[in-house]
Amino acid sequence: MAIVYLSLGSNIGDRVGFVQQATSLLGAHPDINIVATSSFYESEPWKMDSDNWFVNAIVQITTSLTPELLLDECQRIECQLGRPKDRTNEYSDRTIDIDIVFYDNLVLNNERLTLPHKYFHKRAFMLVPMLEIAEDFVHPFFGKTVESLYEEIENPEMVCLYGTRI
Ligand code: ADP
Ligand code: MG
Repeated sequence: MAIVYLSLGSNIGDRVGFVQQATSLLGAHPDINIVATSSFYESEPWKMDSDNWFVNAIVQITTSLTPELLLDECQRIECQLGRPKDRTNEYSDRTIDIDIVFYDNLVLNNERLTLPHKYFHKRAFMLVPMLEIAEDFVHPFFGKTVESLYEEIENPEMVCLYGTRI
C-alpha cells in the first residue's frame, strides 16, 4: 500500500461541501482508504485572475492504485463534482481540484504526472495543512521536511496566502 497525500481545493459553490464530498468519494473507492484529513483553510487565488477564495485541505490516504490510476480516479471525481473536462492551460475557478502531492517517496516526471507536486514547496495552501498532519514528512526531491520547507517560504506574494483556519 502506498501512502499518498492529496491536495483538495474548491473556489466556487459550496466549497466546504465539495471538499467533503470529494473526500467521501475517494474513501468510497475499494482501493483507497482515508487515513487523515487536515483542517480546512481559506486561501486567496494563487496566480489566478479570480476573486473567489479557495477552501483547501490535505488528505492522507493509503492505496493500492498506481499513481496513474489514482490520477484517473481523482479526475473522475472532479468531473462527477461538476468540473468541466476540457481545460485550458490557465488556472480557472473550479468546484474541486484534486492533486497528488506525494506518492510514497516517488519522484517522477512524465506527460501526465509530476511527483512530488511541482509547486508544493511554494504554496502555503498546501504546506500549511500538510504541516498539521505530517510536519516531519521528508520531501523526496528536496530532502527537507515539510516544516523546514514551510519556514523557507519568503516570497512576499505568498504572505497573504498563509492559511486561515476556518
Ligand atoms: P491544476 O491542478 O494545475 O490547476 P489541472 O487540475 O487542470 O490543473 O491539472 C492539469 C494537469 O496536471 C492534469 O491533467 C494532470 O495530468 C497534470 N498533473 C501533473 N502532475 C500532477 C499531480 N501531481 N497531481 C495532479 N495532476 C497532475
Ligand atoms: Mg489539478
